[in-house]
Amino acid sequence: MHQPLLQLLLGCLFAAAITYAAYRAGSLSRSGAWGALLEGTIIFGLGGWRWAVLLLVFFISSSALTRLNTKRKAALAAKFEKGGQRDIGQVLANGGVASLFAGLHFFFPQASWTWMAFAASLAAVNADTWSTELGVLNPSLPRLITSGKPVERGTSGGVSLFGSLAAVGGAALIALLAGLVRPVGNFWSIAGIASLGGLVGAMFDSLLGATIQAIYHCPQCDKETEKYPLHTCGTETIQVRGWRWLNNDMVNLWCAVMGAVIGIILL
Ligand SMILES: [Zn+2]
Repeated sequence: MHQPLLQLLLGCLFAAAITYAAYRAGSLSRSGAWGALLEGTIIFGLGGWRWAVLLLVFFISSSALTRLNTKRKAALAAKFEKGGQRDIGQVLANGGVASLFAGLHFFFPQASWTWMAFAASLAAVNADTWSTELGVLNPSLPRLITSGKPVERGTSGGVSLFGSLAAVGGAALIALLAGLVRPVGNFWSIAGIASLGGLVGAMFDSLLGATIQAIYHCPQCDKETEKYPLHTCGTETIQVRGWRWLNNDMVNLWCAVMGAVIGIILL
């Protein structure tokens, strides 16, 4: 068998094993599992083991943080658009850009920008996930990134010290690994650029959340929410600000795109 075809087949099997475990553990919904299988096959099968390491560290660390927080967040659940199970929208928003660059690596095997964009994009979504999950532990209320006004925990665009430190940690972990297992180039330039790309991506995510992300209001609970068309209580939500098409998944996608763009520019 041709070697690329064999790697693709092995990548698909490896992705299927991990996706199945994550689905059984309740980290992925049914649709999310299909999305993860697709992304895993591309990243493991067309990228290779280096690419697999970064994806797995992102996937395992963010799923673990989400699980740890599930109980704590029960009270906040009404505010978040989705629960602990990632569906296909979330999976594609977080890993779609990374998959694209892993796929491009197959066609441009000598290029260094594919690895840089892949790493910076994963650093961005990892920073964003870590800050969302750990930011809720901040002792005081978060403040809106635009106005600095205190807002309720879980509000889109709210930032806190814990959340920001978690973003730095989440970006740095992926960035340092990207430097360690790099296919080409220099450790510090890859780690530095991916960290910066990750942080800018996560900051962009908060900025969109505070400004143009679609935010709704539940008249029954009198709460602001990302949920549409129905709130967790079953009441229809009413849009209060933002652009209708720019839901939480779109914001995460832009976070990943921003990370990749910064990675390529700085390279
Ligand atoms: Zn409600």
